[in-house]
Amino acid sequence: MRLELVNTGTELCLGDTINTNAAWIGQRMAALGIEVARQTVVPDGGAVREAIAEAASRADVVLVSGGLGPTNDDVTRESTAELLGLPMVQNPEVTAHLEAYFIKRNKPVSPATLRQAMVPVGAEVLENAFGTAPGLYFPAQLGAARGWHSHIFLLPGPPREIKPMVENCVEPRLRALSPDGLSRLVLYLKLTGIGESDIVEKAEKELEAVAGLELGYCIGKGDVDVRLAGQPEPVLRGAQIVRDRLGEFIISEDRRVLEEVIIHSLAERGQWLATAESCTGGYLSSRLTDVSGSSKVFGHGFVTYANEAKQKHLGVPASLLDLHGAVSEPVARAMADGCLATSGADHALSITGIAGPTGGTQEKPAGTVFIGLATKGQETLVRRFFFPISRDRFKLLTSQAAMDMLRRRLLGLPQVGL
Ligand code: AMP
Ligand code: MG
Repeated sequence: MRLELVNTGTELCLGDTINTNAAWIGQRMAALGIEVARQTVVPDGGAVREAIAEAASRADVVLVSGGLGPTNDDVTRESTAELLGLPMVQNPEVTAHLEAYFIKRNKPVSPATLRQAMVPVGAEVLENAFGTAPGLYFPAQLGAARGWHSHIFLLPGPPREIKPMVENCVEPRLRALSPDGLSRLVLYLKLTGIGESDIVEKAEKELEAVAGLELGYCIGKGDVDVRLAGQPEPVLRGAQIVRDRLGEFIISEDRRVLEEVIIHSLAERGQWLATAESCTGGYLSSRLTDVSGSSKVFGHGFVTYANEAKQKHLGVPASLLDLHGAVSEPVARAMADGCLATSGADHALSITGIAGPTGGTQEKPAGTVFIGLATKGQETLVRRFFFPISRDRFKLLTSQAAMDMLRRRLLGLPQVGL
């Protein structure tokens, strides 16, 4: 089943409003297993009619958002009725709904408002529980005279109105229209610690040999999603290939990001994590506390930026700092050990490095970072990484590498880094 989306609104083209409806609908349709074949954004006015006509001539389903309101630039309803050659009649239920809506708010029901109660003959009204303009559904047979086979849905623009309407009115109809189309499966395998090109090298040949498998990649924040879509059989085969070739890099198969995976895994084990950060300035603890439920896992986060802070709060010996410098393997180790001891946590991650662009030396260029991981009853690990990039990307990749070290330890996987 091929679906096209038409988002209308001059404000979308101007960039004054971000087209969040497109993103949200894309995700909803992907979850249903429906292919969004094209998205079109047009300003209010004549372009709306043209865009609907084009989409309807190609697609099985057209979802149109916006332009159902009371103002003169809202032309979606009239344009669609004209295209399909349908007369409009005033609908008594919608009229009653509008009157009740306005009476409740002590406002008069104007003729402009009542335009929203005009319904093209043959179209079904979709209730708008959160606004005035109802949605409309035009079953495919209404376009048969024009040679179209497309089911058309007109939906309101405001996100809080369109979302419930899609969930309650559109999705049930789409399910009924295409039970087998919806057997399409979409899986996301999220990987970290490996780049797109390495994924391609290790698995793509084999994946491309699977007939009927649609393959896509999406780079996220420190991770890469491998998206596998199609009928269930090839998709499941593709997922198994990724697991076989790249299993140790897979952090989730349910779209969870690494901080969620870490917090959930520690919560399951009833274990605590503490952090001691220098160059990331608390970014790691910020990411961990983005996850709901982190208070059951994360109790102490030290930001020890200065050498004195490393000594005072983590007990890093001054001699170690003098001898090796703050950015060094022994200091990362002492920070992790000190953090574990002070916090009483089960695991402690430490980070010390040079975010750059200044502060680097020949031996330790900007981008150098040491990450330590101390775990009760286990040997403390330190790994060196090199992220010579902007400061914000450095913080992101460093915090990601730190969490990945812990993930690998929890799962008994080999560590990466130098
Ligand atoms: P409309 O029904 O086109 O008059 O839109 C009403 C409100 O919804 C306006 O505030 C729009 O900016 C907003 N809106 C319309 N389309 C979208 C969209 N695709 N994504 C997010 N907001 C939208
Ligand atoms: Mg509008």
